[in-house]
Amino acid sequence: MKALTWEGKHSIAVKNVHEPTILNPLDAIVKVTTAAICGSDLHLYNGYIPTMRKGDIMGHETMGEVMEVGSMVKNIKVGDRIVIPFDIGCGHCQHCQDEEYSVCDNSNPNFIIPEKLYGHSGAGLFGYSHMYGGYAGGQAEYIRVPYVDTNSLVIPPGIDDEKVLFLSDIFPTGYMAAENCNIKPGDTVAIWGAGPVGLMAIKSAFLLGAERVIAIDHVPARLKLAQDCGAEIINYEDIDAITDQLSFLTGGRGPDSCIDAVGMEAHGHTILNAIDTVKQKIKLGTDRPDVLRRAIQSCREGGTVSVPGVYGGLLDKFPFGAAFGKGLTMKMGQTHTQKYMKPLLDRILNDDIDPSFIISHRIDIDKGPDAYEGFNEEKDEYIKVVIKMQ
Ligand SMILES: [Zn+2]
Ligand SMILES: [Zn+2]
Repeated sequence: MKALTWEGKHSIAVKNVHEPTILNPLDAIVKVTTAAICGSDLHLYNGYIPTMRKGDIMGHETMGEVMEVGSMVKNIKVGDRIVIPFDIGCGHCQHCQDEEYSVCDNSNPNFIIPEKLYGHSGAGLFGYSHMYGGYAGGQAEYIRVPYVDTNSLVIPPGIDDEKVLFLSDIFPTGYMAAENCNIKPGDTVAIWGAGPVGLMAIKSAFLLGAERVIAIDHVPARLKLAQDCGAEIINYEDIDAITDQLSFLTGGRGPDSCIDAVGMEAHGHTILNAIDTVKQKIKLGTDRPDVLRRAIQSCREGGTVSVPGVYGGLLDKFPFGAAFGKGLTMKMGQTHTQKYMKPLLDRILNDDIDPSFIISHRIDIDKGPDAYEGFNEEKDEYIKVVIKMQ
């Protein structure tokens, strides 16, 4: 089958590889109909996530048709159309029972690596390095889905793939980021990054009752979409002092909550970001946390900073004193996607939201390598790429 594979930093290939087979009685094999490239795939593309190996299959935003199921699968049958969450839950451990699927205790066979780094390991993830289980991703014609009874959402007939594909990651991710803000009526939410997750967070913040959302980015096409979603916008290329601007826009108070939908590869013009960039290049630093610093600095006293953006290591010059001094609540982590898929499907079926508005490019798999390059370099108004499988 054809698949998009990681060949090294800045190198993605279309390769012919073996089709997956059932390895465990709880598995299913799915013929992929639509997949997407995620902003967090760019952290792999740029070589910032360790333990990738040449030939690893990319992709964690996937849906398709079930072709084969293992002998112990109960809820899913051949022919079902399913969306597959990016994180893998076993369905049985204490975390999965508590709907904390992205920190499942059983799905990461390589738990020893994150355990050494982080004390404990998160769940296995599709297409996201060997430290997260080495599972083949979904930017391919077929994918093996472990524990498929837990890691699937059956889609009723008659709904276009594009409307429901983003239940695999970015819609639940944006929604959980907004939910983590504990939004109350009248609240103002500031969101850094108006990429796909940021845009989903804008929509979700309004669904959860925010009065105002302020989106911060520097890509005009993204800011335009943020504005279409009802957000006020700030282009940080035009404004140096974001914290002052946010304070000004909120009567001196600061936003009630701040969402960092950017993560470890922040851009920006601050001196600290210049230092981060150099340290990351020469491998003296792991992350560029400039957005997180600004979110903490800008948030009102007693407010919440919510972090759906991905971080990997140790953060430099982290303003913990500001977070402590203002009594901030911080919430973060990989999304517990399975918990949100069904209620958010209902939101889509009720016409509360159609997440397909973010799609900027529809390609076939052969154009995958070009799409990674264009998306990474912010060319051609890339916002969201979906890969249509034949
Ligand atoms: Zn993703
Ligand atoms: Zn589990």
